[in-house]
Amino acid sequence: MLLTEDCYFSSPVLSSFLPKETLDGTIWSGFSCFCGKCNQQMEDKNIRGVATDAFGVILVEAVGLCGSCLSLSKFRLRVKDGGVTEKINRDGEWVRQSPKIKEEGLLGKLKRVLRNSRRTPRP
Ligand SMILES: [Zn+2]
Repeated sequence: MLLTEDCYFSSPVLSSFLPKETLDGTIWSGFSCFCGKCNQQMEDKNIRGVATDAFGVILVEAVGLCGSCLSLSKFRLRVKDGGVTEKINRDGEWVRQSPKIKEEGLLGKLKRVLRNSRRTPRP
């Protein structure tokens, strides 16, 4: 199944499928989604779609709604043993992403904090 942006409104909240477990017992409880347009991190409640597992690989298809600019972004990834995540590149091949999902989220948050603090005018 391939979700389109339109599926956002008819899909359940992704976190209702989580956590899931890979074959080696890795518990996967979600990922940090960033808006494809403004790069803001999306809230879990605004990420909808499905997570299925087959042969120990978790397949995630989701659409996220950005709370800042209200645009929709599609996410398609799979999660393997050890929490390794892969996404599809432009050639349609699965490529490995950084396995440190949590740290990516933290870095994104940090970048946002830095960006916001720059925007604030000095007294
Ligand atoms: Zn946005």
